[in-house]
Amino acid sequence: MLDSLPKDKSLAANGCEDKTWKVVASSAAKNCKNYIRDIVDNLALEPNRDKAVIALSLGDPTVYGNLKPSPETVQAILEAVQGGVCNGYGPCVGTDGARKAVANYLSFDGVNFEAKDVILCSGCSSSLDLCVTVLADPNKGHNIIIPKPGFPIYRTLAESLGVEVKTYNLLPEEGWNIDLLHLEAQIDDNTAAIVVNNPSNPCGSVFDESHLKDILEIASKHKIPIIADEIYERLVFPETRFVSAASIDADVPILICGGLAKRFLVPGWRMGWIVIHDPVGAFDPDIRKGLASLSQKTIGSNSLAQGALPAILKLTPQSFYDDLVNILYDNAKLTFEALSNIAGLVPYMPEGTMYMMVKIELEHFPEFHSGLDFMQRLMEEESVFCLPGECFGISEFMRLVITIPSELIQEACNRMSEFCGRYYT
Ligand SMILES: *Cc1c(COP(=O)(O)O)cnc(C)c1O
Repeated sequence: MLDSLPKDKSLAANGCEDKTWKVVASSAAKNCKNYIRDIVDNLALEPNRDKAVIALSLGDPTVYGNLKPSPETVQAILEAVQGGVCNGYGPCVGTDGARKAVANYLSFDGVNFEAKDVILCSGCSSSLDLCVTVLADPNKGHNIIIPKPGFPIYRTLAESLGVEVKTYNLLPEEGWNIDLLHLEAQIDDNTAAIVVNNPSNPCGSVFDESHLKDILEIASKHKIPIIADEIYERLVFPETRFVSAASIDADVPILICGGLAKRFLVPGWRMGWIVIHDPVGAFDPDIRKGLASLSQKTIGSNSLAQGALPAILKLTPQSFYDDLVNILYDNAKLTFEALSNIAGLVPYMPEGTMYMMVKIELEHFPEFHSGLDFMQRLMEEESVFCLPGECFGISEFMRLVITIPSELIQEACNRMSEFCGRYYT
């Protein structure tokens, strides 16, 4: 019977003929934007062929090869490979040994974490992803409040989930402290979390204890939990002390995010963590369970990095941390002095991290329509590239990375001086 049907008719009966592929990316994918790439790719970036490019744009301390992980870190990962016992799956939240190691590493200034408070993730970005996902519910119209200027990944993560993003201002004239009145004005009934990034990328600023107290007081008053991105934690310059939000005596639940990327100089190893600080029991049991459930999405983080973690965190000597801080501090001073002498640029001396913010006084550069225009021409004429403030949500600023060798920083500053001298009026 079927055989007697014309071929095209039987195909039509199966519905195969007139259908076309309609495969479209989900809104989670479409709303997942890389704001740095979006802005940078839209610039017509052509370096001057007669000058080698100096990239002060990449927030990866390993790119120029001058900053290397400690021998202890390298040895630890070699042993994790050679020992042969880190090749399997482990618990999704991380192995007990690695969680305990992070708890110990972050227990200072009177804070005492336990292994059960730690969840290991695939880099600090993934830690932040889990924190936003566990606290903010797009189906309830939730929002999160993030710093401006600020690291763009908070927005990327929230928008991909369909969570609304609000921003609070940082004040350059007040050492990039938070505009507390502005922060409080952003909070509404749907606010699920406030993201606090200290020390700050891109500002290089470090909050003191009293400022942190003020921030936590606002969170406590409105009963909003904090996501504290402390990836730079003790990477602060000699006169500055890092204070973790967890060490402040306040009745605010906090998810602290960190990892090996910056202070240990191995961003590609993708090892991050969340540490639960919950003096009021607000995260018990829902958020703790939720984070554990979400860690199942990736079946846990890299087993070799977990195997190496106890030795890395225990054996890396203070001298390694001090050397890194001193190199960055020297570079910061060098950059600050050089740029302070350039009319039209106002550098802001960082207190830690790997970055410096520089204001571009556009009123003195009528040739340029915007900070983006300025950056593009600086690349075209001097082959120097920094990230425009627009990548972090503010205009008329640029962010410089100060991890690169000092001779290159000096050369970049010389070129910026010549460039600004040509156009300053
Ligand atoms: C680099 C950075 C991160 C991401 O770190 P990974 O561990 O590489 O994912 C998170 N937050 C800030 C502020 C950063 O600068």
